[in-house]
Amino acid sequence: MQTHTLGYPRIGSNRELKQKLEAYWRGDVSADDLAITAQKIRLNHWNIQAGAGVDLLPVGDFSYYDHMLDNAVRFGAIPERYNVENGQASLDDYFRMARGEAGENGIPAMEMTKWFDTNYHYIVPEFKKDQSFRLADDSLIRQVEEAAFAGHKVKAVLPGPLTFLMLGKCADEQFDKLNLLQNLIPAYVELIEKLSGKCSWIQFDEPVLALDLDEEVKRLFGPVYRTFKEASSNLRILVATYFGGLGNNLDVAAHLPVDGLHVDLVRGYQDLGLLLKTINSDLSLSLGVVDGRNIWRADLEKAISTVKSACSVLGSDRVFVAPSCSLLHVPFDLDLETKLDDEIKSWMAFAKQKCSEVRIIADAVSGLDVSTELAENRAAFESRKNSSRVHNLKVSQQLAGLKPEDFHRKSSYPVRAEIQHTSLGFPLLPTTTIGSFPQTSEVRAKRSAYRNNRIDQPEYKAAMYKYIEDCIRRQEDMGLDVLVHGEPERNDMVEYFGENFEGYCFTSNGWVQSYGSRCVKPPIIFGDISRPVPITLDWINYAQSLSDKEVKGMLTGPVTILCWSFVRDDQPRSETCRQIALAVRDEVADLEKSGVKVIQIDEPALREGLPLRKSEQKEYLRWAEEAFRLSSSCVKDETQIHTHMCYCEFDEIIDSIAALDADVISIEASRSRMELLGSFEQFSYPNEIGPGVYDIHSPSIPAQADMELLLEKALKVIPAERLWVNPDCGLKTRKWDEVEPALKNMVQAAINVRKRLN
Ligand code: GLN
Ligand code: ZN
Repeated sequence: MQTHTLGYPRIGSNRELKQKLEAYWRGDVSADDLAITAQKIRLNHWNIQAGAGVDLLPVGDFSYYDHMLDNAVRFGAIPERYNVENGQASLDDYFRMARGEAGENGIPAMEMTKWFDTNYHYIVPEFKKDQSFRLADDSLIRQVEEAAFAGHKVKAVLPGPLTFLMLGKCADEQFDKLNLLQNLIPAYVELIEKLSGKCSWIQFDEPVLALDLDEEVKRLFGPVYRTFKEASSNLRILVATYFGGLGNNLDVAAHLPVDGLHVDLVRGYQDLGLLLKTINSDLSLSLGVVDGRNIWRADLEKAISTVKSACSVLGSDRVFVAPSCSLLHVPFDLDLETKLDDEIKSWMAFAKQKCSEVRIIADAVSGLDVSTELAENRAAFESRKNSSRVHNLKVSQQLAGLKPEDFHRKSSYPVRAEIQHTSLGFPLLPTTTIGSFPQTSEVRAKRSAYRNNRIDQPEYKAAMYKYIEDCIRRQEDMGLDVLVHGEPERNDMVEYFGENFEGYCFTSNGWVQSYGSRCVKPPIIFGDISRPVPITLDWINYAQSLSDKEVKGMLTGPVTILCWSFVRDDQPRSETCRQIALAVRDEVADLEKSGVKVIQIDEPALREGLPLRKSEQKEYLRWAEEAFRLSSSCVKDETQIHTHMCYCEFDEIIDSIAALDADVISIEASRSRMELLGSFEQFSYPNEIGPGVYDIHSPSIPAQADMELLLEKALKVIPAERLWVNPDCGLKTRKWDEVEPALKNMVQAAINVRKRLN
């Protein structure tokens, strides 16, 4: 029985790739220097996995920015606007596609969106109707050689053609992207032929198999993979699906004309019985029994019995043991955590530990003695189940005491809007930002010094106050209408709240890639959540004391806190979310009491939490909406509640966005040139909206005229009284000298459009 992984985290155990990438983008290091770091990281990760007992190692899971962009470049699908000669992108072309090009005639970046229901963002491939493909990049082949040379048993990994096409978008006119398969297949075949003899397996990731698929789409898998199989000679093909069960795609998966199928048994355990009964007799089955999406230890005894049952039907030579999905979504190594509480730490496993778990499971099934490991695993489970740190009686009592009116504002939006418009007195098309301002190295240094006890509280507070004051002054100078304090005290919008809640714990190095070089360190919910003391009051009140304009109170919403944390797997997500909502509600109430009139509760992750299958979405949306309203409904009519969302396809959840009943929502829209407003038009969204006019993911400074154009476009859909003007998202990753001219342009654009309206 073989063990393998589908992919490993790629940013480096100490985020070496991030540092090097950013240095390269700044022009501080050469491309060679970057390439050397990348190679070191790859070799190191293969060694770690092999050392933990993984037999078959993934190659191709590494990326400088994103694996979908890699695939687009690999097969020459490069949008024309980048002017790349004969479809062969250089490293700098690649980064221009990923990040856009700065300057007067800058080119916007390609669109980015969430990878299934994770917090990883991929670059959305763009296809023309007559898109041609060819094998334009041989880096996968070179990496395969690199791993083989290092003595590893190699499995090449890349997105499968159906997932690649389905997750892409039509460049201009709409057409059926799957019609492009006939152009794409020969390019894949060429790659397969070139890899033959260089490695033993090739893995095509087809996580679309975890989605609801049309019958016509399902019918395409067989012929595509038959063609691949015929081209593969001695190379064996594995098709991998993850992030959910197979549902009614099971028949397609079980009869793929390839050599192996990987399934996610953490989320799709219910598929196993039928799979074992119906799977093709020449198909091996890779069992994803270790959760690649969470940080808890696997229940080894359960996993072993699952694997044994598969072996008894298929024979152990047809069974692989693996994590459920790529380990990209969990942190590197629990051993690096020196500050975690020992008891809580004993309940966890990160990427490296998960590799070992896979090994133990395989060993146990093969009859090797793993009794020590199993005893340790069992003890950890017992300790977690019985720990008094997990359960808080006060929280359960508060939840039990909730009444229906706790979930609704006192009056409806039209009534509130009238009151608010009079009392707040904002101009037409009010300008604002999403919350964070550039996090200068000085602010970061102070935060980290305070965290490490190198400076005391007064010194830290003074530094934050100084930054806040600077933000307020700059915003007043730029002429923004509704101000923010700039969020200097926040390392991360979820971690910050988690740190101030009870029931949370934190890692020092538990980074997970979010997009490109950006990583987040999701906090971990291990127990019942509560908020012992106010969190944001002091900062907001200080900011407000500096200006006559309104300063928004900035909070992160319950659904986002849930989605961007590693959560408990011992109670339903909905239950955890409600606990968080109550904690946020306490903060909202305190902000209002202290005189704050505008409170923003960010929910950028609302869409991402949506289950992949239609059949499960309604239930999720019900409790997610409810949690948001629970957190925000305790305020008076005159208090304006804002929310913010980004990276969203709003179509599917537009009813729910309305059901949140926030007075104002700001959304990301500029990268897609306001395309998404279509869904708001069809539904005729009832409350106020600020569709972003400034793409904050790109260093380019948007021109005033262009933002005016976007606003005019928005006005076709949204009445002026309900339109706000703001960037796509927070500005923490940008520099002041990008942000200032951009926001000045934005304010001027609003003024000009306002004039025309009057
Ligand atoms: N208020 C947050 C910020 O401005 C929102 C970030 C987000 O939507 N991801 O940084
Ligand atoms: Zn955002």
